[in-house]
Amino acid sequence: MKKEIFVTQPFLPPLEEFFPYLEKIWANKILTNGGPFHQQFEQSLCEYLGVDHLSLFTNGTIALVTALQSLRITGEVITTPYSFVATSHSLLWNGIKPVFIDIDPNTLNLDPLKIEAAITPQTTAIMPVHCYGHPCNVEAIQKIADNYNLKVIYDAAHAFGVQDAQGSILRYGDLSVLSFHATKVFNTFEGGAIICPDAKTKVRIDQLKNFGYIDEVNVVAPGINGKMSEFNAALGLLQLKYIDQATAHRKEIDAAYRERLKGVSGICCLNDAGEKIANYSYFPILVKSDYPISRDDLYQKLKDNGIHPRRYFYPLISNFPMYRGLFSAHRENLPVATVLAQQVLCLPIYPGLDTSVIDEIANLISAQ
Ligand SMILES: *Cc1c(COP(=O)(O)O)cnc(C)c1O
Repeated sequence: MKKEIFVTQPFLPPLEEFFPYLEKIWANKILTNGGPFHQQFEQSLCEYLGVDHLSLFTNGTIALVTALQSLRITGEVITTPYSFVATSHSLLWNGIKPVFIDIDPNTLNLDPLKIEAAITPQTTAIMPVHCYGHPCNVEAIQKIADNYNLKVIYDAAHAFGVQDAQGSILRYGDLSVLSFHATKVFNTFEGGAIICPDAKTKVRIDQLKNFGYIDEVNVVAPGINGKMSEFNAALGLLQLKYIDQATAHRKEIDAAYRERLKGVSGICCLNDAGEKIANYSYFPILVKSDYPISRDDLYQKLKDNGIHPRRYFYPLISNFPMYRGLFSAHRENLPVATVLAQQVLCLPIYPGLDTSVIDEIANLISAQ
């Protein structure tokens, strides 16, 4: 039978290289609560990413929920409908009202020009997403945040390793949150992290992810259990050794798709990183109205051939039942996001994806 090709395939290091890590865990019997691998992984990640402080989490969603708690965010938060549902769910878990604004048609990120009109006396923060790892207009967002005294929490789940000319994209805003889920560019099976600017903030975040304990007998906040285990931290340390290699391979795949899809009318490859330091986490294409068939028909055609692209992010978060009653969720307020959610298709991209498969996918797309 022909092999099925999915949008991603989790990257795993050679199994035998993981055994020494497991032997250490079995020998010292420290399984969690900030053990040696956890400490080492936090430090190595800070060095790799070029950030000063970071707190590891059990997953990205609990990290988002905790990030909002650590800054005591309440009321309303301005965010994007064009993301994975966890972005807005983290607001609901804190009793915060999401206020959706439209996206920029070029970056697919929250449109900074739409922020001011959405600000009310209840607004306390902005939660943008670096969608597909493509950086938000961080300067424009910060300027508005400063003018209105708002916090900025970036959902940076897609932005592992992404840099601008000055360094890591993760140093913008008050906090940034990463996910190390199996489907992400860098995985620890499940995992996540909050990047924060100073040691004091990290202490508070570390307390919140450990039930609010500050010592053996004192609990200062209704914290959660968000701790990363030694198993996941050890795996992360090993994965770090392979991330540059994996990204280099993704970059080649990205270039191969762009080359092969260049002349196809009605198809537009998004987010060309050019010379910038990107992570090539997704390969989104736009299936525009002048393409002979609809995005959904192309999606089906690829599936019929054993290729499983994904329609990230369709449906928009604002169309799910727990959000669609909000005024800001009305599709008239979100015209760009509504159209793009019907046109985007994310093609398979992962280290190890065969050139012959890229050719096959490109041929299927061009042959219309
Ligand atoms: C994956 C993802 C999350 C959630 O991360 P988990 O580690 O799976 O909890 C949040 N936001 C975005 C944009 C994501 O893609």
